[in-house]
Amino acid sequence: MTKPRSGEAVNPHVTDVERRPGFLARDRLQELFDLILQSGYSILGPVVRDGVIQFSEITAVERLPHGVGNQQQPGRYRLQTGAGSSVFAWNHGPQGLKPLCFAPKEHLWSEQHQGLGFQLELPQQKLTAVIGVRACDLAALAIQDRHFLEGEAADPHYQKRREQLLLIGVDCSHSAETCFCVSTGDGPALDKGYDIGLSELNEGFLIWSGSTKGKQIVHKLSLQPAEDRQLEQMLQMTTQATEAQQRQLPEADLLMGLYQRLEHGHWWEVAERCLSCGNCTAVCPTCFCYDTQHALALDGKSAQKVRQWSSCFSAGHSSMTGFQVRTNSMQRYRQWLTHKLAGWQEQQGRIGCTGCGRCITWCPVGIDLTEEAETILWEGSLDV
Ligand code: SF4
Ligand code: SF4
Repeated sequence: MTKPRSGEAVNPHVTDVERRPGFLARDRLQELFDLILQSGYSILGPVVRDGVIQFSEITAVERLPHGVGNQQQPGRYRLQTGAGSSVFAWNHGPQGLKPLCFAPKEHLWSEQHQGLGFQLELPQQKLTAVIGVRACDLAALAIQDRHFLEGEAADPHYQKRREQLLLIGVDCSHSAETCFCVSTGDGPALDKGYDIGLSELNEGFLIWSGSTKGKQIVHKLSLQPAEDRQLEQMLQMTTQATEAQQRQLPEADLLMGLYQRLEHGHWWEVAERCLSCGNCTAVCPTCFCYDTQHALALDGKSAQKVRQWSSCFSAGHSSMTGFQVRTNSMQRYRQWLTHKLAGWQEQQGRIGCTGCGRCITWCPVGIDLTEEAETILWEGSLDV
């Protein structure tokens, strides 16, 4: 299941002639912005705000985080300067693509007491281009798509937002200390799920299209053919990001291994540190649990159905009529990790983790799912 780590990175754009990029000089990046804006999209781009890199509406390349990198460790995130003229030398901040399609809180429908049933309110989402999306987050979006769009009926709220997105992906040239996308097979080079792909070189950008929507924009840029040395530099960068990864998931049968160790003593050791704060599920780009509430107006004439994100770690999430299934942090953490790495394989055919490392960086006590899974799988006796 787990892809073995290797120093040999594969960048599909270097090896696939059909997807061979063109070159855009650094001082021409605004032309790409302008074409996207002229196509009717607003742009969400990475900016420095509140001490992190996060997506914000921008129109000019000047707003990008010039020369800014970051340092990420368990329970720690710090911005760094000194990345030269680069604008994509950072790793993702706390925010993935999830909130753009699966809103943290929204009205699903409203009802008026007229005997006419309910009325569906769809979100008023505008065309939105997101610049700087990483491979792990594209893989996470594919997982969310499978959950919300495939099956018996697509979620119309998610679907409406999803259809409006244009995704401009960027190859990762650096890995944070908490990244492990190589071991999940989801990065660091772009592979699929983007409309336009970028790779940042010292002198500018390699750029290529990944979809018909993307092609319509890219073909309006007059690009220079990429030189072999530029393609070589692109491969070197993703190789460097691959080799820099210090973490990985255990190379084991995670599904059987975790199900056989539900009574392992280490679950209790994690629970002694875990605050049940839910940060890990909030930042996780694949977590899709939610609660719904039916709120009746005081006059009894109207009601609204509201949906908001929920978490394995919130007390109410496991409430059944009259009792709570998971009453403590041990049971909640165990539920989260076994669903993510085992149950998800049964439901979706892959693990529910794309190795972004956010749950490690943003856990206030630095709990690290790669270490916890390793300990549970390989230390102590098998207790079934
Ligand atoms: S479980 Fe952690 S590392 Fe995996 S996708 Fe979620 S936040 Fe990222
Ligand atoms: S593992 Fe960390 S982030 Fe997740 S609930 Fe526990 S303390 Fe919070």
